[in-house]
Amino acid sequence: MTKTNIKRNILLNPGPSTTTDSVKFAQVVPDICPREKEFGSLMKGLREDLVKIVHGDLEEYTSVLFCGSGTINIDVCINSLVPEGKKVLVVNNGAYSTRAVEVCQYYGLSHIDLKFPVDEIPDLSVVEETLKQNPDIALVHTTHNETGTGILNPIREIGALAHKYGAIFTVDTTSTYAMRPINVHEDNIDFCMASAQKGLMAFTGLSFVVGRTSIIEKSKEYPKRSYYCNLYMQYDFFERTGEMHFTPPVQTIYATLEALKEYWAEGEEAKWARHTRVFNAINDGLDELGFRQVIKPEWRAGLVSSAIYPDDPNWDFEKVHDYCYERGFTIYPGKISTTNTFRLCALGAIDEQDIRDFFVVFKEALKEFNIVTPVVYNK
Ligand SMILES: *Cc1c(COP(=O)(O)O)cnc(C)c1O
Repeated sequence: MTKTNIKRNILLNPGPSTTTDSVKFAQVVPDICPREKEFGSLMKGLREDLVKIVHGDLEEYTSVLFCGSGTINIDVCINSLVPEGKKVLVVNNGAYSTRAVEVCQYYGLSHIDLKFPVDEIPDLSVVEETLKQNPDIALVHTTHNETGTGILNPIREIGALAHKYGAIFTVDTTSTYAMRPINVHEDNIDFCMASAQKGLMAFTGLSFVVGRTSIIEKSKEYPKRSYYCNLYMQYDFFERTGEMHFTPPVQTIYATLEALKEYWAEGEEAKWARHTRVFNAINDGLDELGFRQVIKPEWRAGLVSSAIYPDDPNWDFEKVHDYCYERGFTIYPGKISTTNTFRLCALGAIDEQDIRDFFVVFKEALKEFNIVTPVVYNK
């Protein structure tokens, strides 16, 4: 196998993230049929590692793999874990929880879309009141780090409320898993989820749900609302055969195994410290240039910065994006309907020097397009 030099791009978008060369090259393997025992044995270790990352007890928690992008997990959890005639409560302050509401709509599930402003954390007394008023709520769902803005939601408290009122708690941890430490026991999480291309720093195509085995087994009796995306069916097939029900993303799995090796080598604490360094460097850079952000500092999840477009008539996100992109740095538009924003994210195999290098290029771009710095806002 010849390894050529691959250009290193710094991805500041909210995933997929910058990967190491060793993870990139781990995809280049001899062809193998995934129904071979050799491949099955790889997946067993992989499934256990995915539980260990969130400190789940293997006696109580399992992981179930799917071939798809991260949204498949939201679809799977919501369509599979609601008993007949019961209701879903979505604690919603952003684009990704809205996605869960849309999943409810598409499956015709009875649900409450409990909306809060995108730049505020949910009011727990309203969550509790809703649970009290609706004893038929069987599943409470929210998003840990709302990637559209970068706000951190109080999952531990929401989970405690869900349990107090007899509901299970599913959390979209796609943009925190393997970055910001999570402990499923302490954080009151019954189900969480992620995909390989974000915190694990591998590739798209592999997504997974980590959750309570007893609840999955109970869900055998629940209505089957999807053929491909049913949690119990996928879990059961794995348990009986050690394989995914349908063809797995073979090469992505090899890359994920290498990424896991690198995850354990770096360590949970050191990795989170590195993401924090990157995040601080991003905020320092934005502050220095006078950019305002959507989320106040104490509510930020520490992984996504949402900067508000300045009111400078010369500001043109596309032009600034293209200038940076041509020089190896990818920045990303926001996901808020009310405010024009762009995002800089601290995911991936990058460190603070990469952010300093980025701001050199970013400043050049602002100068090139005659955008005044510090940037101006009308009010
Ligand atoms: C990235 C992400 C997803 C998955 O998005 P895909 O485009 O399907 O990969 C889901 N939830 C959150 C919070 C995310 O950040």
